[in-house]
Amino acid sequence: MKCTKCSQTAIIDLPQHNVAYCEGHFNEYFLNRVQKAIKTYSMVEENDRIVVALSGGKDSVSLWHALIKLGYACDAVFLDIGMGKPKLEELQEMGKKFNSKLFIYDARADLFGLDIPKIAKFLKKPTCSVCGNVRRYLMNKFAVENNYDVIATGHNLDDEVSFLLGNVLNWQIGYLTRQSPTLLKTHDKFVKKVKPLVLLTEKETYAYALLNELPFSGESCPFSKGASSLLYKKVLNEIELVQPGTKQRFYSGAMKVWNSKTEVELSECKVCGYPTTEEVCSFCRMRERLKDALGKQAI
Ligand SMILES: [Zn+2]
Ligand SMILES: [Zn+2]
Repeated sequence: MKCTKCSQTAIIDLPQHNVAYCEGHFNEYFLNRVQKAIKTYSMVEENDRIVVALSGGKDSVSLWHALIKLGYACDAVFLDIGMGKPKLEELQEMGKKFNSKLFIYDARADLFGLDIPKIAKFLKKPTCSVCGNVRRYLMNKFAVENNYDVIATGHNLDDEVSFLLGNVLNWQIGYLTRQSPTLLKTHDKFVKKVKPLVLLTEKETYAYALLNELPFSGESCPFSKGASSLLYKKVLNEIELVQPGTKQRFYSGAMKVWNSKTEVELSECKVCGYPTTEEVCSFCRMRERLKDALGKQAI
């Protein structure tokens, strides 16, 4: 198999675009796709300071690297909530090399010293929903307190089409409208959220991380086993195999129907003052329940 662009040996084939690339041309293609997503979905304005929500996996590490390569002013933050084991020292080295900061935010101080698996057990809640709630809240808080304009997350096309399928199957209209690649700033304390990898598949972010020898952690989340998102990914992969390009069409079509830039109406949480759609935000409600559960346990 030869590279479509230069006829060197190709290292990856991308049937959805009917091309195959050598290492150099794949890297070029990858950065172009990131840039295209940023432009298409108006993710970044001039002079915006970006912070990457770094989990340490292939997606967020590739995203950080790609944004630096594209010349964006960006740093990264790792939220330490007892989930996953990223290669922090090597990641810090990588940041230093490119003059980009990596912050490590120990979130246990905001969570009575507990980590996510323990909280989920106390509250008898699914780990993934507790994890998502905590991540969304603390990432936003970190960005507000440190004057970042944009939070970039590593969601790729496979993640997005699997959410999309789940949301369509269950007609979760609220989630569908909030699934856009760009969530605009609609409140002083609500930082813009963007997903610059939405035009790239899991296979592509994995290849990018490997080819560039990025220090990513290979283990997947132990709590995602059996999650319906994995079933949706499997089904979508089977369709993609027979009809290459299906994922991209499904996603792009949906983004035309649902405005790709969503403005969410927000009020302020009565407890913490951060934006929410309810009276008390879900993070503060979780902390309240946690305080109760811990109190009972102490007796
Ligand atoms: Zn080539
Ligand atoms: Zn609150």
